[in-house]
Amino acid sequence: MHTDTNISLQPFHFFASEEQAKYFTVIKNKEDVTDAIEWCHEQNLPLLILGSGSNVLFTQNYPGLVAKMEINGIKKINESATEVVLEVGAGENWHHFVSYCVHKGWGGLENLSLIPGTVGASPIQNIGAYGVEVHECIQQITAFDTVSKEWVQLSKQACKFGYRTSLFKEYTHRYIITQVQFVLQKQPQLKTDYGAIRDMLHEKGIKHPNLESVSNAIVQIRTQKLPDPKILGNAGSFFKNPAVSKSQYEHLQEQFPTIIAYPISDDSYKIAAGWLLESCGWKGIKKGNVGCYEKQALVIVSYGIRSGKEVFDFSEEIIHSVANKFKVALEREVNIY
Ligand SMILES: Cc1cc2nc3c(=O)[nH]c(=O)nc-3n(C[C@H](O)[C@H](O)[C@H](O)COP(=O)(O)OP(=O)(O)OC[C@H]3O[C@@H](n4cnc5c(N)ncnc54)[C@H](O)[C@@H]3O)c2cc1C
Repeated sequence: MHTDTNISLQPFHFFASEEQAKYFTVIKNKEDVTDAIEWCHEQNLPLLILGSGSNVLFTQNYPGLVAKMEINGIKKINESATEVVLEVGAGENWHHFVSYCVHKGWGGLENLSLIPGTVGASPIQNIGAYGVEVHECIQQITAFDTVSKEWVQLSKQACKFGYRTSLFKEYTHRYIITQVQFVLQKQPQLKTDYGAIRDMLHEKGIKHPNLESVSNAIVQIRTQKLPDPKILGNAGSFFKNPAVSKSQYEHLQEQFPTIIAYPISDDSYKIAAGWLLESCGWKGIKKGNVGCYEKQALVIVSYGIRSGKEVFDFSEEIIHSVANKFKVALEREVNIY
């Protein structure tokens, strides 16, 4: 296995800070996965799989092996009159894959257009946007289980998908995902009930949307709303929407009548983290080389950081201010190393 030593991670993640990996390699096939695990075991070093680096923050040099996932390929493995099943390599670019499905007329993933990242990382936090989560189209996942030391096929149920979470978040670094199987619909049911999508379609004069027009509308909304990571390094939403009990929500609502929240079960609510940050005055605030994006407080942006620690310390300040004002604990969505 080829490894490089003391490699700067700057080109490999969206915050583009300057931490280094002690060792670095690229994974092109399943054998490379087992080789990397064996190598780390022999050297007694940790292993970190990296996709496109759009959801990580390095706060220090990585002491082990960083392995960039580049297993590619989109294979049709089943087809019926109504559905098509695809097996996709973990290293495929997410948006390219979504565009491929849209182009073929296969529906299900169009609302997830332009989310950065790789196919293999998509199940990890069960990526979601505009009323759709990726688990809705996932059938099965192929992964190497580093605990049982065998290849496993995980059914959708086994993956324990939830809001921005899954089995892979519960057992961090246990599974190395190499392929994801998706089921797409040949007669797609479009989901355009989100206000922003409806408004964009209306603005473009589209009365009868199809997969392509919905995907294009979402690309346009996201381009307008979110910072371009090539210009302002970021990892999308930095925090998750926190869950609170119904009684805590009702108490907060009495104190802060404009609070934005939605029920997730009979006795719990999710509060919009963006609203919490804006209410604490974080929107557009810049401190040193870090800030909260002017159009969306939840996105922490880099104005040229050298160390990811700057972002981490800034996020700590936000967590404390939200806890002080609302007694609500924010949790980071971004993976910290
Ligand atoms: C501008 C912007 C907008 C975003 N918008 C959204 C959004 O709307 N919705 C949403 O859900 N997310 C969003 N994100 C977050 C991000 O796009 C997703 O989390 C994405 O799935 C990360 O993919 P990646 O390949 O970059 O993963 P990375 O950042 O490289 O890795 C993320 C984590 O997954 C692990 N990992 C990666 N690949 C594998 C693998 N094959 N096997 C095992 N572990 C692996 C890594 O070790 C790491 O812990 C956004 C990010 C940005 C920068």
